[in-house]
Amino acid sequence: MSRIADNIRQLRATLPESVTLVAVSKFKSCDEIMEAYGAGQRVFGESRALELRDKHAALPNDIQWHFIGHLQTNKIKYIIPFVSLIHSIDSTKLLEEVDAQARNHGRCVDCLLQVHISQEETKFGFTHDECRDVLRKLAVSPFANANVVGLMGMATNTDDMDMVRGEFACLKRLFDEARSMMPQHISVLSMGMSEDYETAVQAGATMVRIGSKIFGARG
Ligand SMILES: *Cc1c(COP(=O)(O)O)cnc(C)c1O
Repeated sequence: MSRIADNIRQLRATLPESVTLVAVSKFKSCDEIMEAYGAGQRVFGESRALELRDKHAALPNDIQWHFIGHLQTNKIKYIIPFVSLIHSIDSTKLLEEVDAQARNHGRCVDCLLQVHISQEETKFGFTHDECRDVLRKLAVSPFANANVVGLMGMATNTDDMDMVRGEFACLKRLFDEARSMMPQHISVLSMGMSEDYETAVQAGATMVRIGSKIFGARG
């Protein structure tokens, strides 16, 4: 059995069935992705629009492609015809633009609001208050073609697991608020990566995004 397939099987064995595993395949080859596919993996995440477009064209049609990176509005067009979930909506302008382009394609695209939960300056996302504002507006008038189904966050990259646990707990509370504001829509909490997914699952993640633990360290 290939190393990648083996990693997928081991991860699945430890994750609760209710948690969706997104295999983060950015910078990885189509051959490597096919090894994961061979182990039954169907949900893959990419962080660059053109790379995602090219892999979608080259790989089997039953893969569900998630976009997890910072999305520039001028790149939406490359992924909108097929993307199944955008994790990284970090402005209302981006959400409006996804809605408009999805409408042109006759699609309804699921989206997550990215929330800034870490101590790091460089990560994109709404503050908690901004996120509440957006949710309040959506609860009154949701977009028809950009369906906000949950929240995504990245914890601080640190060995201090108490800090990480605190950040995830904070996002979980915001997720619970979001659910009570839009119960028909909100069901996805995307948090946890290779180094912190166990903590994220304990804190209530419904979706984890795992790259290096499946495919090996990034080159
Ligand atoms: C790269 C990336 C991941 C996966 O990171 P690993 O540490 O390799 O598991 C998860 N989420 C986002 C947003 C990423 O950019």
